[in-house]
Amino acid sequence: MLVKPDYNVESLENIDFDALKSEGKSVLMFDLDSTLMPSKSGDYLPKTKELLKKLQQDFTVVVLSNNTNQNYIDKVRSVTDFEVISHARKPDTKIMLDYLNRIGKSVDEAVMIGDRPLTDILCGQNANVTTILVDSITKDTEHKIVRFVRFLERLFVK
Ligand SMILES: [Mg+2]
Repeated sequence: MLVKPDYNVESLENIDFDALKSEGKSVLMFDLDSTLMPSKSGDYLPKTKELLKKLQQDFTVVVLSNNTNQNYIDKVRSVTDFEVISHARKPDTKIMLDYLNRIGKSVDEAVMIGDRPLTDILCGQNANVTTILVDSITKDTEHKIVRFVRFLERLFVK
């Protein structure tokens, strides 16, 4: 099984959001942990917060997280001014497609952005939405074993 993200970039700042907008994209679906914030931190870095605020002027922004820890998700919601969906069960596409259906958007208008090939990107790929693989937001400070697991998972990326 190979995963082929449409774009593979180092960080959120490297995504050409203007190009996405002119391609007709209007929904940005973000993974949470290690994509929008350091894992288990429950808060955004200032630069991410600023970026998200700007993006909300042009896009519907949503978090699609596999996280099932209610206390943690509540904490994230308290610092987030857009929808945060937990228990997303990526790479299963049902929750993602239900969400798009609920807000009246097609898969052509949506983008999935995340750090994990086998959950985030595979989910987007299976749902036929544009996918963007980003490096972990904390990749330079992660524990060796976490980096090794990330390295292994990247072997599935075409
Ligand atoms: Mg993640």
